[in-house]
Amino acid sequence: MTADVSEVPPDGEADASAAPPTDPDRATAAVPDPEPPRPGELPLAVLVDYDGTIATTDVGDVLMAAFIPGAWEAAAAAYDAGRAGSRSLMTLEMAVCRAGREEMLELALRQPHDPTFAALVARARAAGAAVEVVSDGFGFYVRPNLERLGVGDVTIVTNDVVWRSGRPEMVFPNGHPACFVCGTCKRRRVLAHKAVGRRVVFVGDGHSDRYAAGYADVVFAKGSLVGLCEANGWAYRPWATFRDVDTWLAGVVDAWRRDPAALPAPVRRPYYCGPEVWGPGRTDPP
Ligand SMILES: [Mg+2]
Repeated sequence: MTADVSEVPPDGEADASAAPPTDPDRATAAVPDPEPPRPGELPLAVLVDYDGTIATTDVGDVLMAAFIPGAWEAAAAAYDAGRAGSRSLMTLEMAVCRAGREEMLELALRQPHDPTFAALVARARAAGAAVEVVSDGFGFYVRPNLERLGVGDVTIVTNDVVWRSGRPEMVFPNGHPACFVCGTCKRRRVLAHKAVGRRVVFVGDGHSDRYAAGYADVVFAKGSLVGLCEANGWAYRPWATFRDVDTWLAGVVDAWRRDPAALPAPVRRPYYCGPEVWGPGRTDPP
């Protein structure tokens, strides 16, 4: 129950026998594992949640309220309480949704976003740091909204919705091979960047970050992620806009340029989610 992350095979080597059938369309390809930082690049990854974080509303919640009958609400409450998985919840929600892509996207594109995200992306890239959006939401509206912010080329690790004969269906190209609690496995992305030599900064706001923040070296938290950090004893930095993260990153870059060893201290915690602690094939946390 307390296996250290360094003692467990990488996720790709896990037993995938419990994996559900691969989606035949693979509407969205899986994002490949990250490459190691090259010489001269700041060995840091800034991983950023989307709903409630870059988008200042929870776009998924807005879409559910507008387009999806209320049958999912009890399941959503169980998810927020940490008793249910997001993958089965999103699958349920889309199974009862009758809306088309265009009308859902039109509402998603009207949601407010934090305009200071673009400056953080620019600073991270100028230093050679990785910056990625990691989102366990409906996914299909993330790229169009990042394009509106001028950062449509940022790596996005998320789920997707495909419409077949007009009916929406969730697909999960970035899930864990042996754990189906989440749709997109944020943990994998945090640990993948660590495995190739980066320190990982995670920026988030809520319940979908619970299985990522505890593995990161630095956490910026607002909303319900603050309570999750405090309940678990994870250090965090409060933030309001990406200007706060950008100010912190400016200091990190300056220190690293003076001394390449001056990086945020690494954090190593035992696995607290996934097949190593729950066994393979779960769809809900125990
Ligand atoms: Mg969020």
